[in-house]
Amino acid sequence: MSEFEKELAIGLKAVREASDVCRRVQKEIAGSSLEKEDRSPVTIADFASQAIVCRILAESFPDDPVIGEETAADLLSNERRPFLDRVVGLLSPAHPGVTAETVCGWIDAGRGESSSRFWTLDPIDGTKGFLRGEQYAVSLALIVDGQIVVSLLGCPNLSAEDGWDRETGCLFSAVRGQGAQLRRLDGSNETKAVRVSGTGKPSAARFCESVESGHSAHGRSSKIAELLGIQSTPVRLDSQAKYGVVARGEADAYLRLPTKAGYREKIWDHAGGVLVVEEAGGKVTDVDGKPLEFTHGRELSANRGVIVTNGLLHNAILDAVAKTA
Ligand code: AMP
Ligand code: MG
Repeated sequence: MSEFEKELAIGLKAVREASDVCRRVQKEIAGSSLEKEDRSPVTIADFASQAIVCRILAESFPDDPVIGEETAADLLSNERRPFLDRVVGLLSPAHPGVTAETVCGWIDAGRGESSSRFWTLDPIDGTKGFLRGEQYAVSLALIVDGQIVVSLLGCPNLSAEDGWDRETGCLFSAVRGQGAQLRRLDGSNETKAVRVSGTGKPSAARFCESVESGHSAHGRSSKIAELLGIQSTPVRLDSQAKYGVVARGEADAYLRLPTKAGYREKIWDHAGGVLVVEEAGGKVTDVDGKPLEFTHGRELSANRGVIVTNGLLHNAILDAVAKTA
């Protein structure tokens, strides 16, 4: 049995089941005349996703803490109580008779603290993309002694390549030292190796970045592109799907440039993507070229921003980033 084989298998199952529930909810809202400000579908899918992943992890790895983005307390206010009932309803087909109390227990299994071995989970990364019917991701990673050792990234709306239809979605995974792989998000276990692009000429670099200008400074990325002589416009997509797109060579870099001095990136917004890119041959640092440090609890408090590249372009992009500081 290879190292972390069980963790990979259980992680794949958890991300698949969680992604399936998210897709069901996203399908329900598609075409409905939802109020623009109504975030209830994403709230419901988000908590259901965390409950599913934490339940599956606890069954196989009862001693592993999980640091998830959500806590059940946020569902217990009078205003949100109806959401809890809908989360229970979503989980009932697989768990007949499940109670609200049990579901809250599963969600709160994600309130762990970091230790020498822990998982981190973003049950729905890219909530704004989810609500727009666009990209979002279920992101899960195992961190041992400060190093990401297993990364899983479910991208239900990311079209797979030739022959794999869009409906299927993608599931990226990586185990440290064992490469990165791509699977269909449905049950099939056929895998493809994932490799970053071979683009070495900075002016030919294809960038991707957040849709939300509050999450990454768009103006600064266009200055960086100008400095490098890049003509093409960046591709904007939500969530850690950006890591997947760089890992499989469809973009050459993902720039996440700080928008506010005090903001610190959250570990669950990156851990599921970082190892996929690194094992696909790429490189990930912060805007100063420092490795991301997953040893400071819930935040990447020693880092600012994130730069993800195919490796070949990393230094050229960091130089341009420094010139725009
Ligand atoms: P994206 O889909 O790439 O736009 O990123 C979504 C993530 O951005 C969310 O999961 C939030 O945790 C995170 N986020 C929220 N505020 C900020 C901010 N000011 N800077 C960077 N990321 C943020
Ligand atoms: Mg997130």
